[in-house]
Amino acid sequence: MEIKLSAFGEKLGRDSGIQELMDDLGKALQGDGSVVMLGGGNPAEVPAVTALWRERMRTMLDETPEAFDAMLLNYDTPQGRPAFIDGLVDYFRGTHGWDISSKNVFVTNGSQTAFFYLFNLLAGPMPNGENKKILLPLMPEYIGYADQGLQPELFTSCRPVIEHIGDREFKYHVDFEKLPLDGTVAAIAVSRPTNPTGNVLSDEELHHLSDLAKQQGIPFIIDNAYGMPFPHILFTEDSPHWEPHVICSMSLSKLGLPGARTGVVIADEGIIGALTRVNAIAGLATGNVGQALVAPMLADGSLAAFCRKEVTPFYKARADRARALAEELLPPEIPWRLHLCEGAMFMWLWCEDLPISSSELYKRLQARGVVVVSGHYFFYGLEGEWKHSKECLRIHYAQPESKLRLGLTLLSEELRLAYSEKL
Ligand code: PLP
Repeated sequence: MEIKLSAFGEKLGRDSGIQELMDDLGKALQGDGSVVMLGGGNPAEVPAVTALWRERMRTMLDETPEAFDAMLLNYDTPQGRPAFIDGLVDYFRGTHGWDISSKNVFVTNGSQTAFFYLFNLLAGPMPNGENKKILLPLMPEYIGYADQGLQPELFTSCRPVIEHIGDREFKYHVDFEKLPLDGTVAAIAVSRPTNPTGNVLSDEELHHLSDLAKQQGIPFIIDNAYGMPFPHILFTEDSPHWEPHVICSMSLSKLGLPGARTGVVIADEGIIGALTRVNAIAGLATGNVGQALVAPMLADGSLAAFCRKEVTPFYKARADRARALAEELLPPEIPWRLHLCEGAMFMWLWCEDLPISSSELYKRLQARGVVVVSGHYFFYGLEGEWKHSKECLRIHYAQPESKLRLGLTLLSEELRLAYSEKL
């Protein structure tokens, strides 16, 4: 039977970039374990983190079995679990002076779901017939947003300014001169630290964007999935930014809990109310295992300290090691550069004038048992073709050293072959 899909079905029920990518990565993990997986978005196995969640679960079972039963037996409210929400409010009020109450917090099944709700609540066809967009001011940006619009072309963006740093590094900056910020923009959104590049927008860029949004009377969305206070995979000094027009999203996923599907949004009461109502319709309530595990660590203030002590140094050491391995193994005669790694879990490799596309390079690597992510996925909402968008790869840097070494060795061979094809 040929099923006829609605416009919603045509847009979301057909193949999409993110679904193909997740499928591909999922299949690569199914095999006999010989694949060098440098592609996925899973957090690394940090021993202290694994031990923490085991211990929290044991404590719950041994010391408060009735709380364990209640966690599994009961639906929470569609806004989230009150103890978890109160813990977040106390932490951000107490530590960062944010003027928020429990009415400013919403908990969702992973922050990915929060973005789906948010983007479609704010942009697309408006009741007055206008068509609004989300402005992503810095490309490349997280691929997970790209297909989320119920309407096609929900995003607008512009090319960044590229700063070359030394011989082997670079950094993207927002091109404020070219920012397509006009009356059609419903909100500005950034991930910080950024997936895929590890970029952390400078405080100056962040405040400039925030001020522009405020002047336009639109929200400024900050995706803090890797930032502080949790998981704190962030290697620069920072203090979290919030004002009433800011929508700050967080996640427990990179703190070793992607399976618990827990995301958090802190925003204006009106936005939280709308998100809560959508969540009730779409999902009744949010999963509560992650919230129950983490709530006591918010209440006693230990979560932020744990992340600084155990998570940040683990990833920083792995990022430094990956940088050193790249220097040792990638061909010196090829003009490769890495984005400054200021946070998140990825090494973003740019091979200038790469003679084949990054997706062809991805396929050649896959045939040799190495899985990375082709960079082209992360460039969208842009006008016209841009050569640079086909010259980059995202590599998960936090894998065990033997895997990374093998992956970079094979990448090096494929790069040499590709560049020699040009001659
Ligand atoms: N935002 C960014 C920047 C991400 O990298 C991810 C996942 O990799 C997400 C949001 C969504 O994560 P989750 O739905 O697991 O909270």
